[in-house]
Amino acid sequence: MSAAESTLPPLTPATLYLVATPIGNLEDITLRALRTLRECDVIAAEDTRRTGQLLNHFGISKPILSYFKFNEAKRSEEILERLARGEKIALVTDAGTPGISDPGERVVRAAVKAGFRVESIPGPCALIAALTASGLPTDEFHFVGFLPVKSGQRRRSLEALKKVSGTLAFYESPYRIGKFLNELNELFPTATVVLARELTKKFEQFLRGKPAELLDIIERRAPKGEFVVLVSQLEAEGITQTCRDSECRSDPTHISPSDVAPAHPHWPQVATNAVSQFRCRVLR
Ligand code: SAM
Repeated sequence: MSAAESTLPPLTPATLYLVATPIGNLEDITLRALRTLRECDVIAAEDTRRTGQLLNHFGISKPILSYFKFNEAKRSEEILERLARGEKIALVTDAGTPGISDPGERVVRAAVKAGFRVESIPGPCALIAALTASGLPTDEFHFVGFLPVKSGQRRRSLEALKKVSGTLAFYESPYRIGKFLNELNELFPTATVVLARELTKKFEQFLRGKPAELLDIIERRAPKGEFVVLVSQLEAEGITQTCRDSECRSDPTHISPSDVAPAHPHWPQVATNAVSQFRCRVLR
């Protein structure tokens, strides 16, 4: 335990702690998250095996209770019973902040309704990591999360979002990123789109452009990894893409602007500097 940790008050009994965990980089765990996981009575986890690995990495040993989408109702009752006995319960998901496109909302609502204390232990969240580094407006944004899988429902959701102001933020599977860009190209052809890929990981990458430009790129190189997609219906000027060429060259899935340079007059302005960083204007 660090000196700072030893001066902190103990956890409060009968409290549900929502503990954010890393979305790819284990260094992103907070001191408070570690202390909460160490000092709670039980950890409710989306995937007990995955959380077991995280705990193991940090040398924490604690009983784990499974809490996932399909047992949320039953487990919420059990968690309330435990809270009623005065237990301190930490809720974690596989990665990021519980309740953000992840289980959590149900048990939080039940705990609040039953009068229990709920505390947030903030930390990694893909939405915030992507939005803040996107270069798109952050003063007003609308988090959509995952769109429905069925085409008709997706289309209706996207149509409705045309009226929403602010930056739109989506989570999307790499298997549907092409389909999604096609939909954006049809419904938001002039929007500025940012694909935030593999955030906090070794091969983190931001791709910025109009839907058609990004579609062209990902059609040449099938995308892998995890994505946040941000869409701004405002005109954005002079957004620059940056990544570390030296690191990206070793990533077999990396999508380099130079891959598309011959076909793209707006992409190939690649300048290499001393730290081997390349920058490429993607917007006129
Ligand atoms: N609760 C999590 C959070 O706070 O961000 C989100 C969980 S949701 C089930 C998983 C989705 O989040 C992924 O499909 C992807 O869209 C996004 N995501 C999670 N980690 C990411 C990462 N390292 N880079 C980019 N997107 C990520």
